[in-house]
Amino acid sequence: MSSKKSNDTEPMDVTETTRPKIDFDSFSKDGYKMASNGIRNSNALPSDTDFNFYQINESFKKIMTDESNRLLNLMNNILKTYNINDNIKTKSPEEKIELIVEGNDMILERVGDNIDEMNGIKKKNLQPVEVQNVVQHIPINGAWNKTNNNKLMNINTNSPAEKANLPVAVHLLTGKNIIRPQTYFKDKIDNSNNYPWQPRITDKPNSIKPLALYLEETEFGESYCHPYEMELDQFQPTPEQLLKQKPIVPKSLEDTPLHEINTVEDLKELVEKLRSHKVIAVDLEHHSYRSFMGITCLMQISTIEDDYLIDTLLLRDELSILNEIFTRPSIVKVFHGADCDVQWLQRDLSLYVVNMFDTHQAAKQLGYSALSLAYLLQRFCKFQPNKHFQLADWRIRPLPDELKTYAREDTHYLIYIYQVLKNELLKQGNKGADNLLLSVIQKSTEVCKKRYYKPILKEDSYLDFYRKCKRMFDNRQLYALKFLYSWRDKLAREEDESLQYILPNHMLLQISELLPKEMQGILACCNPIPPLVKSNLLEMHHIILKAREQPLVKPIMKENTRTSGNVQNHKINTSNPLHCPHDWTYQPDFRDDLPTLLNSKTEFDLEHKNEKLKLEQKLSNHSTFNSNDTPNLDGSKKVSLRILSPYERYKLVRPFVETEEAKKKLKQDEKESLSKKEPT
Ligand code: AMP
Ligand code: MN
Ligand code: ZN
Repeated sequence: MSSKKSNDTEPMDVTETTRPKIDFDSFSKDGYKMASNGIRNSNALPSDTDFNFYQINESFKKIMTDESNRLLNLMNNILKTYNINDNIKTKSPEEKIELIVEGNDMILERVGDNIDEMNGIKKKNLQPVEVQNVVQHIPINGAWNKTNNNKLMNINTNSPAEKANLPVAVHLLTGKNIIRPQTYFKDKIDNSNNYPWQPRITDKPNSIKPLALYLEETEFGESYCHPYEMELDQFQPTPEQLLKQKPIVPKSLEDTPLHEINTVEDLKELVEKLRSHKVIAVDLEHHSYRSFMGITCLMQISTIEDDYLIDTLLLRDELSILNEIFTRPSIVKVFHGADCDVQWLQRDLSLYVVNMFDTHQAAKQLGYSALSLAYLLQRFCKFQPNKHFQLADWRIRPLPDELKTYAREDTHYLIYIYQVLKNELLKQGNKGADNLLLSVIQKSTEVCKKRYYKPILKEDSYLDFYRKCKRMFDNRQLYALKFLYSWRDKLAREEDESLQYILPNHMLLQISELLPKEMQGILACCNPIPPLVKSNLLEMHHIILKAREQPLVKPIMKENTRTSGNVQNHKINTSNPLHCPHDWTYQPDFRDDLPTLLNSKTEFDLEHKNEKLKLEQKLSNHSTFNSNDTPNLDGSKKVSLRILSPYERYKLVRPFVETEEAKKKLKQDEKESLSKKEPT
């Protein structure tokens, strides 16, 4: 149970996917049965004088010696795993028992540790996270900086490099040995494709209507109702918040206390402190690469006096007590561009917001030339934020100092910006009236009503995806795209990984377009090879073979039916709640030059370079040209190529296919026996 636990760390994830999952209930039941059988059988063996008598029989004696040697060897192996290196065979019976007791103690201790770890009481004793600062140079000439979501996409907006369309350096702060936070979440993540996301809120402070959760039909499909819809509908800003106010210039970061909230006690204290504030600023940091729906990793809150960094991974199940503050209509919550934050808050932390002021909405209302937070900071605080860490892996713990500073800066100045913008709105309103301010508050309140929708795969989802790409596919290629698309979606849900981690869009399109006849052709479309492509190569291969078998008809998609073939013209509908400008995971990136943690020098490239080599070697023996490498006398290799017929290649690749098929069958059998055992 414990020796494989280290699989929860990043580099080992690959093996995790090939290992069949164990049902612990039946595992321990079976184990118990085996142990009691063993005891019964051993009790049935003759003892004392009877035993000596039986020993006269040669065959009895042989069986007993062989079996006891086998058992002692097994025990030695088990003890060795737990670093007990004594040889049990050479010990007296008393010493043997002592050794076994010692071994059992160690095993039980480990079991206890693992249970604590699973319950989130104790963190795994891991190697420290090795933070890697990967700098990538990406040309900024695509759609990203042409949207008005400059803030979201901004990598140094309007920098000279950008103007000149030169590659811009982007820092991807990532790390090795990052624990998958999902492994210690108490709530079960439901990635299923057939059931809408379900709110987990259990307590509804500041309510007008008691908490009731029910399913509704919406234009985006079935969804649970928004628990605070009524309160948001009836929300009225306080008279005080509609008044002009002299902005309070924020203190420097150095002069502002930073509180890191990592325990329930600290959190409760924070709630008490926040009660006395009229306005607070809030922001979130999110991770979407190694999870299907995404994970909120950090919450920043600033008051006029203090900055708080709240570990939303550790306190995921506790944070809903902040609803007391977040839904209190007399406290203004300032966000910048909260469309995603609102969804992340409800999805991960059961938090909702009543009385929000979104500075992004205000900048829009005021008709500013840019709407990013970076722009507002520059304009009003003469502060140029270092947006380099925007794409950092926010799961890293402990959080590096650079990230802490970066995160603080997102809320530290926000209250001041709010006050300035509020005055500006009042000034530009109808003869100094509050109509513009009210409009911004109304729009912010609409943002609060946004619901989180789980991504749902529909029959024709792949066609939406296809329409956005620049390629023209015939029916075979479309067939491959359809089935690879749903294969990727299914695997991502099962493994709780993003679609991009399973197979980046450009690789998916490349494979569907080229329809490689052989497995190494699939690998050739992928650089680097995603770990789950490696372990599911055969399934992908079968999909492509089937696609190739389809009778070829003329391209079925006409050019003019492909409305937005060019990504650069592709308009983002920001009012669509499914659209999450922060979150790249579900957005088609058709450019191969976008930053992805899949790129070289990051995460699994380091881990899987060798794997890739091995795999390619395994398969390359079976390519059209067979190279019979025979070393020359000087040690160099003479490569002679011999052309192989397709049948010969098939024969060579067969053993690989067979082992892969056997693995798959084993996995399926496991799954079936599990579902049989599971009570319905
Ligand atoms: P922010 O509101 O700027 O602090 O962003 C919150 C989260 O949105 C970040 O932690 C990222 O996960 C995500 N995000 C922000 N900007 C980008 C971007 N340009 N590309 C992808 N994700 C982003
Ligand atoms: Mn934000
Ligand atoms: Zn932020």
